[in-house]
Amino acid sequence: MAFSGALTLTDLNDFLTPSQACIKPIEQANEPEESKVPGAAATEIVIDSGGSYYEVSANDPSSKNIERKLQQAQISLNDCLACSGCITSAESVLITLQSHTEVLNFLSSNPPVSTPDHKIPVLSIAPQSLASLAASISSSSGSPVSLLQILRRVRAFSTRILGFEHVYDTTFARHLALLEHTQEFLERKKGEGKLPMLASACPGWICYAEKAHSEMLPFIARTKSPQQVMGTVVKSWFGSRWGAQPDQIYHVSVMPCYDKKLEASRQDFYNDIYSTRDVDCVITTGELELIMREKGWDLSKPVENESTPDFDAEIPELLSHPGTSSGSYLQSLINSITASHPSPVDLAVKFIRTSDYEEFTLRAQDTGEVLFKGAKCYGFRNLQNVVRKVGREAGVQVGRGAAGRMVGMRAKKRGGEDEKGYDYVEVMACPGGCVNGGGQLKPIARAAGQKEDEEGYARNWQESGVEMPVPGEDGAMQGAKWGNKEWTKEVERAYWHDLPMPPPSPRPDAQTSDGPFDRADHLAAQVKVDLCRPTGGGVHDTWVSVMDEEAERRRHEHFRTQYRAVESEVIGLAVKW
Ligand code: SF4
Repeated sequence: MAFSGALTLTDLNDFLTPSQACIKPIEQANEPEESKVPGAAATEIVIDSGGSYYEVSANDPSSKNIERKLQQAQISLNDCLACSGCITSAESVLITLQSHTEVLNFLSSNPPVSTPDHKIPVLSIAPQSLASLAASISSSSGSPVSLLQILRRVRAFSTRILGFEHVYDTTFARHLALLEHTQEFLERKKGEGKLPMLASACPGWICYAEKAHSEMLPFIARTKSPQQVMGTVVKSWFGSRWGAQPDQIYHVSVMPCYDKKLEASRQDFYNDIYSTRDVDCVITTGELELIMREKGWDLSKPVENESTPDFDAEIPELLSHPGTSSGSYLQSLINSITASHPSPVDLAVKFIRTSDYEEFTLRAQDTGEVLFKGAKCYGFRNLQNVVRKVGREAGVQVGRGAAGRMVGMRAKKRGGEDEKGYDYVEVMACPGGCVNGGGQLKPIARAAGQKEDEEGYARNWQESGVEMPVPGEDGAMQGAKWGNKEWTKEVERAYWHDLPMPPPSPRPDAQTSDGPFDRADHLAAQVKVDLCRPTGGGVHDTWVSVMDEEAERRRHEHFRTQYRAVESEVIGLAVKW
């Protein structure tokens, strides 16, 4: 089984070990007193050959006549989210709750369009998933394939073969998320919330914070992730345009990691009125590829007009937000501050360790004043360092979960100088970010010419359809595995395919004001007005316009979320990394 990029058995540096036994089985309702063994001082649990569990007297374990058969423990997703014991088990449970089989079962049982019970099937796919598919096709065919071509092919497959009625990529939703996220940052700058603000798009990191570092929760942005904003767009905005209620739409998203299944299942994204979720089912890139293989669809084959951009699409397609391939959150803030400052600014970049941990400082050219200090931090090891640093700068004692406490002021004097703390950190759990998510396609790990799989069995890789060679540094073709930096670079290259120069990190000159972004900004304002329904006049042709109180409340409902601490015995900083 594959886990998220943060939780892999192949790279123990980033593996969070299950640190406690699952607590759920001991949370049984009290049975009536008479069902207990009379007078027994202690009981033991025995398992018979059929796998059934029995509680028997410890004084006489062989005495079958006083045994009591125990109920099999049922562990739901919400149990896993509320537990402090492990993370990996939750993901295992999700494999059965949200899987490609669920999607196929739904599609095959969806009543016909003409019937009232029909649900509109909608598929949304993340750009990182498109990049993974593109890298895979490009490396096996030897010729580069763009995200647009892959999107067109996925759309053709999903509509013609599976029966989806609408297929979108999630970059317009990401555009809305970036706008709202910038708005939230400006609110915090004005004192309406804590700084530094930490990114909120990665459920891998958020689950970890909720379980092990709840003292960090006030710092995490409340803005929904692109997946969940897409859920709002599909179920509420498109829904009202199509004349469909949220529960009359079945929304599937294709994401680069399993953690997105956890995210979609959060209680905050459940609509009580219509008993439905913003995203009904999440499948990974690998699961989508598996469905295509099972249905005999060859993704390497072109479809008609696959390279022609559709500038009149219902929502803008494949918006390439410059910055990082994990959402460009930090870049969007740098852009906003640069654009609003009255004089030119300089951006300084400092590598802390690797490209997974960098600091960015914006200074006014004329005065030298530091306007903004942010960081990009990917991978759990770096993340832990950032948690310590943010805690120190914010005056919060870290590593005590809900028991974390304030110990001082935010800015600390060091070396006789005021050192400015971070204003923002783009935090992602996976080393390399979302292009390296655990649900992405994984080329087979093997050296060139190796004929055995990792368990030592002879395999014909080409016949099995799993040949996935990529060029090594010496030019020779070799296999790659998930977590392999070379392969991650291939996916990163595929992600930026359409841009003349791949921007690997935030840059001072990155602009987002060309045609597609202008259209996206206008449509974003329209989405805001349609969903928030401002009254009392005022022009709301931009995302930043302030609406009346009730409309602002709706804006929070549609585009923001909340987190809650999970009481835990796990001390985050005590976990071995
Ligand atoms: Fe998922 Fe991206 Fe977070 Fe990895 S970094 S767990 S792919 S959201």
